[in-house]
Amino acid sequence: MPDMDVRGTLLGVDHIGIAVDNLSEAIERFQRLLGGPPESTEEVEEYGVKTAFFGVGETNLELLEPLAQQSPIAKFLQKRGPGVHHVCLSVSNLEGLLQALKSAGVRLIDETPRKGAHGKRVAFVHPNALCGVLLELSEQMPHSEDPPR
Ligand code: ZN
Repeated sequence: MPDMDVRGTLLGVDHIGIAVDNLSEAIERFQRLLGGPPESTEEVEEYGVKTAFFGVGETNLELLEPLAQQSPIAKFLQKRGPGVHHVCLSVSNLEGLLQALKSAGVRLIDETPRKGAHGKRVAFVHPNALCGVLLELSEQMPHSEDPPR
């Protein structure tokens, strides 16, 4: 896919991921700021995390608590403490985009999509590729069957 329109596949900021030590304590703090409880909470086994999503206008804040010490979020917390963990862009044609990024020499964590929160297909770009920012790409389905959140 040599002449793919990368920019055309980028639809917006889906959410910002924030690593926390204690999800229920973090939910309390964030709902004070955001005026209400999270739209959803979910355990995502693939990543060893418990998540809570707060809708904020067009985008979301995702709080992440590790379920196990081997979880990447646990390692992040040990190294850097709580705080912003990743930025997630919503994209169309995730597979094509990954191929285009790979052939442009961008370092990827996932060369093929895997399953993330809300059953969406996601992939991560290595933080070394983006000045220390871990980037998640989340595929927006043309006919979305996602539950409202
Ligand atoms: Zn995320």
